[in-house]
Amino acid sequence: MSHGVVEIFRKGLDTLHISDYHGLVSPGLTCYLNTVLQVLFMTEEFRDQIKRCVPDVRTLDSHLKDFFTELEKKKTRTHRITQILGIDDVYEQRDAAEYFEKVLRLTSPKASRIFKGELNHVTKCYECKNQSDARGFFWILPLSIKEPHQTFKVDSGLEEFFCDEKVDGENKMYCAKCDKKQEAIIMCEMTQPPDVLTLLLKRFHYDYELRRNVKLRCEAEVPLTLQIKDCTYDLYAMVKHSGNLSGGHYTANILSVATKEWYCFDDERVKLKSNLVSGKTPLRSHSAYLLMYMKRRDPENATENGEEVLNSGDEAKETMMEARWNREDETQEDDRKKRTETVKDIIGLPSSQSQIKLSNSKHAVVQYEQNSNKQVSDKKTV
Ligand SMILES: [Zn+2]
Repeated sequence: MSHGVVEIFRKGLDTLHISDYHGLVSPGLTCYLNTVLQVLFMTEEFRDQIKRCVPDVRTLDSHLKDFFTELEKKKTRTHRITQILGIDDVYEQRDAAEYFEKVLRLTSPKASRIFKGELNHVTKCYECKNQSDARGFFWILPLSIKEPHQTFKVDSGLEEFFCDEKVDGENKMYCAKCDKKQEAIIMCEMTQPPDVLTLLLKRFHYDYELRRNVKLRCEAEVPLTLQIKDCTYDLYAMVKHSGNLSGGHYTANILSVATKEWYCFDDERVKLKSNLVSGKTPLRSHSAYLLMYMKRRDPENATENGEEVLNSGDEAKETMMEARWNREDETQEDDRKKRTETVKDIIGLPSSQSQIKLSNSKHAVVQYEQNSNKQVSDKKTV
């Protein structure tokens, strides 16, 4: 066969939608939810946990289990999930980040905890140096794009997130010791790194000059690995948003642990993306919105079942963290038990515009958590 004919065949095959994975059939334009569901499906630890779930009407687990079981075999309809999530207008554009959090909040703590990390914000009065801690859980770290006309470097954005921030002027904090509002320094540290670290690029922001929300289309440089303290994270999913605020489209590029290949999930279509990654070169994207990184397990410390062996110091720390997680899980459980409703009624969560809430300050993430997380102290004093 001549080279030309082979080339025609190859091009023909490339346009076919043959994949090891299956697409989603939505009742409307719910690509924001489809991308999130595919990310969750492709996160093996999450999928395994969901598949082991015990039926509980207060969580989304058994619905996700049925959905995942079908998706393993064929193209799957999402109408049941959209109904449960209370999406009545399936043609309205919504935020993928908001639905990512919504689904996680509605799944059992056991399944969702791999996405959960903890931050500690230390607030220090500039005058009397009095300081206080505020620990809070997070699902997503929002990164600000400071220079919308330059390439946004994700690792620099992450570094900036953990830089100390001075609050003054209108943002002064009340200091109990000084008994008045004072300038303060807010320091942020990650006290519990999540197994899956989700970053959000704040591409949607309010432009005070234009007096409207605008989208930032700058290029983002997305590293394949990130280092946070002692943890190494590998990029395995990227949710992209193209188009504008009123009408756009979400797709997701996701790496399969099973086939070691990247795929593009675009509603009903799933396409192999063999050439997406080349060596260790960071990805470049004008539409990257959510980035999911998986914490690398240290192979030297891993046992046969993949769990890490901890030394005695780590073990004590781990036990302490475990106790904290359990307390948090119980609070989440208690909250649910107090109600008699099923999962469909639990959806009274902070709705749309989560982007806008997240955009006010880099430390708004804690405030955002406070809305739904009783563990976090809502003390604003120092
Ligand atoms: Zn003070």
